[in-house]
Amino acid sequence: MKIRIVFAVLLLAFVLDGFTACYKEIIIAQEFDEHAVDAAFAQLPVLPTIYETKPPQVYEYEPYITYTHKHESYEYEDYYKYEDYYEEDYYEYEDYYEYEEYEPIRRPMVALTFDDGPSKYTEYILDILEQYGARATFCVLGSRVEDWADTILRMNYLGSEVVGHSWNHRNFTRHNEDEIKRQILETSAAIEKVLGVPPPPIFRAPYGALNARVRRVAYELEYSILNWSLDTEDWRHRDADHLYNFIMERAIDGSIILMHDIRRPTADAMVYVIPGLIELGFQLVTATELIEYFEGELQPGVEYRGIR
Ligand code: ZN
Repeated sequence: MKIRIVFAVLLLAFVLDGFTACYKEIIIAQEFDEHAVDAAFAQLPVLPTIYETKPPQVYEYEPYITYTHKHESYEYEDYYKYEDYYEEDYYEYEDYYEYEEYEPIRRPMVALTFDDGPSKYTEYILDILEQYGARATFCVLGSRVEDWADTILRMNYLGSEVVGHSWNHRNFTRHNEDEIKRQILETSAAIEKVLGVPPPPIFRAPYGALNARVRRVAYELEYSILNWSLDTEDWRHRDADHLYNFIMERAIDGSIILMHDIRRPTADAMVYVIPGLIELGFQLVTATELIEYFEGELQPGVEYRGIR
């Protein structure tokens, strides 16, 4: 009899233990978010926030204009202060004069744009941008901003640009004005909450889909619309070599290139695309820098597609 009771108690304890363990797992499963699981699988360390908030980089002077013989020019300026030059020095001035024939040179520029992120591949793209001192534009989904706050901060920290790409990738042309406004403004608010400053007044519509209503809302909210000149269709090909060849063959001065930082092959291709474009003489700038250079200050309600 006693043995039976002891056995029954042990059995009960065993069952209860199993139940609590199971219950704990359910709780843990509920607390897991998909990004943390993704990060764990990719064996990426979850880093603490180390990037300080700083305002978007506003350059006093176009950073993408370079002048040949700038150095000599300064030498001349300095030299000229000394009025009492000797005759032999005068010849140096004559030598300098030849440089006057050189015109300022502007290196051609392209804007790489990455949609639908951030994702676990975005930091990898940022690593490569940082390595080459290049900038890009990230068109982020508002719903992902909070989870990827550190990545958003790092984009800004590296001089790249963060703009909205709707809250949850709704096709704006199928929604009313209120919903379009909500999608644009709430995404901007989420970005501002992370960066401490609002993003530039420009958004990229999901699928690039526009109609008169979307344009009118953009105009009313004083936002510009960012589209592209080169659609790589990286989401369809999912092939790093194809993406590399596509961009190398087609990039021209003023290209705005559409890609997605939620695709592994896209991130892989950047290892070759970014140094490859620089090798070809391009400078990698943000979309608004490119637009402002070619088309002047951003205008509300206007769609920008780069140079074709
Ligand atoms: Zn998209």
